[in-house]
Amino acid sequence: MVDRYQRFTSAGPGRAIARRLGLPRPAVLPRRDPQRPAEVPGPIVLGGGESPVATAGGGPDSGAAGSAATEPGSAAGSAATEAGAGSAAGDGTDRPAASGAGELADAVRVALAGTGVEFVASAEHPAALVYDASAITDATALGGLREFLGPRVRSLRTGGRILILGRPPAEAPDVASHLARRALTGFVRSLGKEVGRGATVSLLRVAAGAESSMGSTLRFLLSPRSAYVSGQVVDVGPAPAGGTVDAERPLAGRTALVTGAAQGIGAAIAETLAADGATVVCLDVPAQGEALAAVANRVGGSSLHLDITAPTAPRELVAYLTQRYDGVDIVVHNAGVLRDRTLAKMTASEWDTVLSVNLLAPQRLTAALLEDPAALRPGARIVCLSSLNGIAGAAGQTNYATSKAGVIGLVEAYAAVLARRGGTINAVAPGFIETRMTAGMPLAVREVGRRANSLAQGGLPVDVAEAVSWLAAPDSGGITGQTIRVCGQSLLGA
Ligand code: NAD
Repeated sequence: MVDRYQRFTSAGPGRAIARRLGLPRPAVLPRRDPQRPAEVPGPIVLGGGESPVATAGGGPDSGAAGSAATEPGSAAGSAATEAGAGSAAGDGTDRPAASGAGELADAVRVALAGTGVEFVASAEHPAALVYDASAITDATALGGLREFLGPRVRSLRTGGRILILGRPPAEAPDVASHLARRALTGFVRSLGKEVGRGATVSLLRVAAGAESSMGSTLRFLLSPRSAYVSGQVVDVGPAPAGGTVDAERPLAGRTALVTGAAQGIGAAIAETLAADGATVVCLDVPAQGEALAAVANRVGGSSLHLDITAPTAPRELVAYLTQRYDGVDIVVHNAGVLRDRTLAKMTASEWDTVLSVNLLAPQRLTAALLEDPAALRPGARIVCLSSLNGIAGAAGQTNYATSKAGVIGLVEAYAAVLARRGGTINAVAPGFIETRMTAGMPLAVREVGRRANSLAQGGLPVDVAEAVSWLAAPDSGGITGQTIRVCGQSLLGA
């Protein structure tokens, strides 16, 4: 979807005017091609990885990385050769090129081995630039980010990806290392704001021992599925060993429940989960009967008419899921309502309705599903819809923002409980998404919401759905207790 302003500024006089006035020119974001759902576009230029010791030709990371860095231009080390590393840095200096042969760079090659994506040392218009910053042990080495990305950032193709790989600060062995790891967040968030042309920038922090748990996250962050996710930090920890996942249908054999599935984001989630292989139970209030049935038919799933705030809802839901499906693998708490009004004028009913639907119902349903051993299958994935306004706050939304911040608390509090059952629980916080709700906003408010992000446009319901599907994947077991913003790096919030 392309909005009117986007069309106006994409060509002809509109483009010239926008350029002259310094107005944003939002790019058309590439999204998943249904014919090639597992595609990770290439080529990917992979850099970084060398620790200062390895560059000197030894140390714990020596071997492929060490040789490539010491002998520019040679065919040293299999990993470095494969990446085409060892040539000049590409910026007119005679420094060795980043080899992209560090621990995490190697793990990226392994994780994406089946996708056919090509790793190269340089490309005229790369689809992605990936920098392995895991070997950085103090701030003096952070300059490697500038050296690698500075000369290449403009060559990135429209809608390209920049991905920085690092280690969690909390695992750092000393102060120097901790602050260097932490510094990466500032780099990523700033580059996301300046890169332009629909490109996104993310930081993936991989805990020690979690190198083999990156697969689904790389497929997401390096593909059009993450079109509206930028400036984000994702932490991946070790995950319980899972079987092999079919990247084209990662949810095959899984059953998913989606609440609020009759329209908007919920309908897109049901469609995306089904396209990724899941059997979907679509839930919504009885008043949405026809719309819900239409979505359920479209995705080949079933429809359940239930008001999630009804006192009997937890019992009815558990009974339905255990009797008809032997429980579910995926639960998406998407149903939500707004009752906007400033606090001074807000009625008790407006407060209670929003808190009940958005927060108390997900809490009660989750508790009931966890209580019945047959309702949630082992390794379950729960994804809750929060909101950017739950992070940043918004005038007229004390009720809504309270409920959506509470949802973030829900996933934080339940992460340990799910972990004991091999499961995960995360939140997705959408920013401005083009839905019926946002279409009804006054023009000025709508335009500000749309443009006040690094991609200068609204997201689509499918962008939220893609993030949900990624978190729901069997090989996303290393991500839990987190809130992922799908907001085009909105200027609001942290
Ligand atoms: P929507 O209003 O289009 O759809 C919400 C659905 O939830 C509706 O089908 C509605 O019938 C259902 N629902 C409401 N109360 C229910 C209840 N008691 N029991 C069962 N179903 C119920 O909303 P949307 O824009 O698609 O938003 C979906 C989710 O994403 C919500 O949680 C919302 O807060 C969140 N969100 C949306 C945006 C956005 O820009 N649209 C931004 C941030 C967060």
